[in-house]
Amino acid sequence: MKVDTHSFQLKTKGHTDIIDITPQVSQALESSNLKNGNLTCFIGGSTAGITTIEYEGGLKRDLPELWEKLVPSNRTYHHDATWGDANGYAHLRSSLVGTSFTVPFVGGRMMLGTWQQIVLLDFDNRSRSREVIVQIMGE
Ligand code: ZN
Repeated sequence: MKVDTHSFQLKTKGHTDIIDITPQVSQALESSNLKNGNLTCFIGGSTAGITTIEYEGGLKRDLPELWEKLVPSNRTYHHDATWGDANGYAHLRSSLVGTSFTVPFVGGRMMLGTWQQIVLLDFDNRSRSREVIVQIMGE
């Protein structure tokens, strides 16, 4: 078994920006030359998340609308009173989504569904530079 760690950078707009990172993750897998195993995508940040969705126009609107209902951005949270950065909702959303996603790969291909993309969600209340780690374990 081999462990191969890659990373890539991207800029986000914040405000529940949804970015399809499937191409970058596929690229990392390809350059690892590993054929069978698991890979984990991870973001080191407490106001972002990684999950999957069908990356299409309707859901790109539905998902932010769902988050507004679940964890509204227009109210004050205890975090905001403590730090004054007004992004308590972003931290809470990140906790709910989680900051990593693991997928098995077989024959050099991730076992994603046809309409399933890996997405980075940036909930912060400003644009950010983010680094995504892709750690690939396999043979
Ligand atoms: Zn904060």
